[in-house]
Amino acid sequence: MGPPGDVIMIGSDMLVDAFSRVHTNLRISVTDRCNIRCFYCMPDENVRFKSRRELLSFEEIERFVRVVAPLGIRKIRLTGGEPLVRADLHVLVHRLARIPGIADIALTTNGLLLDEQAKLLKDAGLHRLNVSLDAMSESVFQRISRRPGLERVLNGILVAKEVGFTKIRLNAVAIKGITEDEIIPLASFARSHDFELRFIEFMPLDAENQWTTEAVLRGDEIRAQLEAEFGPLVPAERIDLSQPAVDFRFSDGLGRIGFINPVSQPFCGDCNRLRITAEGKIRNCLFSTVEWDARGLMRNNGTDSELADLVRSCVAAKKPGHGIDSTDFIKPERAMYQIGG
Ligand code: SAM
Repeated sequence: MGPPGDVIMIGSDMLVDAFSRVHTNLRISVTDRCNIRCFYCMPDENVRFKSRRELLSFEEIERFVRVVAPLGIRKIRLTGGEPLVRADLHVLVHRLARIPGIADIALTTNGLLLDEQAKLLKDAGLHRLNVSLDAMSESVFQRISRRPGLERVLNGILVAKEVGFTKIRLNAVAIKGITEDEIIPLASFARSHDFELRFIEFMPLDAENQWTTEAVLRGDEIRAQLEAEFGPLVPAERIDLSQPAVDFRFSDGLGRIGFINPVSQPFCGDCNRLRITAEGKIRNCLFSTVEWDARGLMRNNGTDSELADLVRSCVAAKKPGHGIDSTDFIKPERAMYQIGG
């Protein structure tokens, strides 16, 4: 398998849905636990996490990936909750990196534990790293995450760069009334270290019903602020059409910036993603209200071929779009930390 953007040869076994979308991308949540409490993702207090027994074991995750790789899954992203709070995550990375067909393993993290784990992960075979960073000021960081830790996150990012991760990507959720003043400092930090920065619109996946359309700081508003400071943004070549971000370069050539605008510019038509939650429920969309139980099947002596059929059923039922903008939109019962972002 070549770089993203290669033409995909569609075989009869591949995971193609009713709208001809070929699924090559799997997001695996390894835990619902987290060491911060971002208000757009989870509750602050009294969170009822899954017990250890309820989570898929590394063996079960590996089995699932071994079943979906022959169906065309090429790229994996580990997420959560916070994936780095799952003990020995590097061991899972090492196991997944050896599976034939898996060409790319990435991780999305809040960065708090990166300083101690970056080298282990790199050595285990992790290819790429996305770090969530919404603010460059401790006060805004804490307003969002309701816990301290910005310095440690920034240090973790620099340690990851030192141990050899290239193309580190920073993801910033943009929230109206909260993060406007963080946009330029985030862009300056990213530009000075050659990190790619992506702004993500706030989606209705919080646990405390704080989301409103008014709270969405839209990509075009952020772009206007960046252009006022740094000059015109130049559209960048789109290498991978299934990528949710629309990317730009700064006109001075320093750095790259992207906008993920699921609310104002949905990209469902190119979606190639499947998800499996920490307790083994397969989902075909972040906003799905239906799930397919892989753990139940695996723990009840289901065969690999039954597991493959379950994944196919999930793909076959995928809707054309998430429907956030439609009047009959139903917010999923799960918040983001219970799905895996
Ligand atoms: N804990 C890890 C992290 O912080 O990157 C991985 C899981 S987190 C759920 C994955 C990503 O989802 C983060 O970048 C986070 O900011 C984003 N996210 C969570 N809730 C969101 C929401 N309601 N709208 C937009 N992005 C959200």
